[in-house]
Amino acid sequence: MTAATPRLEEYLEGIRARDRAVLGRALTLVESTHPQDRELAQELLAHLPSPDRTAYRIGVTGVPGAGKSTFIDSLGNYLVGEGRSVAVLAVDPSSLLSGGSILGDKTRMRALANHPNAFVRPSPSKGSLGGIADRTRETILIMEAAGYDVVLVETVGVGQSEARAGELVDFLLLLMLAGAGDELQGIKRGLVEVADLIAINKADGDNVSRALEAQKTLEAALRLMKGTGGGRAGGPDARVPVVTCSSTEGTGIKEIWALVDERLTQLTESGELERLRSDQLLQWMWSLVQSSLLEHVRTDPGIKQILPEIERNVRSGSLAPGTAAQAIIDRAMD
Ligand code: GDP
Repeated sequence: MTAATPRLEEYLEGIRARDRAVLGRALTLVESTHPQDRELAQELLAHLPSPDRTAYRIGVTGVPGAGKSTFIDSLGNYLVGEGRSVAVLAVDPSSLLSGGSILGDKTRMRALANHPNAFVRPSPSKGSLGGIADRTRETILIMEAAGYDVVLVETVGVGQSEARAGELVDFLLLLMLAGAGDELQGIKRGLVEVADLIAINKADGDNVSRALEAQKTLEAALRLMKGTGGGRAGGPDARVPVVTCSSTEGTGIKEIWALVDERLTQLTESGELERLRSDQLLQWMWSLVQSSLLEHVRTDPGIKQILPEIERNVRSGSLAPGTAAQAIIDRAMD
């Protein structure tokens, strides 16, 4: 037995018992970049109890202000009301860009967080986007091992993060706003292609007609985009459903869940979910290979030495980027 074993047992027991304090600590552990923590985290992941059944892993993405937190609160409360248990995780790439956190500072989802069958955790992760995605995968596994029925993963819609979020979940829900050009942005950035369902939020009060208008616009646009739709697991004729909802009033939430549930049941029964998840495991492996290799290249003393000159020459145009890359790779392989 190693010295770490008692601590590992403690984690495992707490996870089995769905002890929130231990769950919080387990998440902090897997998010830590400290080598000793990484080692224990890997051990923990290798020993996680198998859940009785796998959780639904659902991503919720959208631009800041789209209403993700409010939506998740509303959906989460609906689900716990239906007798399901819900864990909420968050990937917050904003912490990379600003050093601050869009998600972490808010008092979020208080009602849901206090429910005995819910666990709400904003992720304080820092690091590369790839790194965050890898950590989020691990936190999803912990929540699943703790027996939560539904794991909701919130991603702030910046840059490539939504597409990466799609690699972590079974189903990606895109929240959009009517007007403000959000629909066009979503189409331009290929977002609607990775989404499994699009919900136009804030369809309440004066905004209802605008939301319905946006729904029509998006549906028409999706019809024109041949070969896309239906999310990652959709066939060529599949269409991404576009619906409207109000997270503050709770309208449309039940209907959205019915669509999610129907789709995931269908994916489970057809075996597609298993295939999707095994693809994701391979993606995960390659993502880890990629980040380890990059880390190796960045920290290699020999490379560090030649890098300033190489970078200078690439900047000035006297060295082709391809030749420079090869020189770096050759040095890394030495
Ligand atoms: P996030 O940044 O995407 O997580 O967005 P939030 O959930 O923090 O919501 C941003 C703002 O929009 C808040 O002031 C919410 O109260 C408001 N909001 C969210 N959902 C709705 C909705 O369905 N209707 C209305 N009218 N406001 C909403």
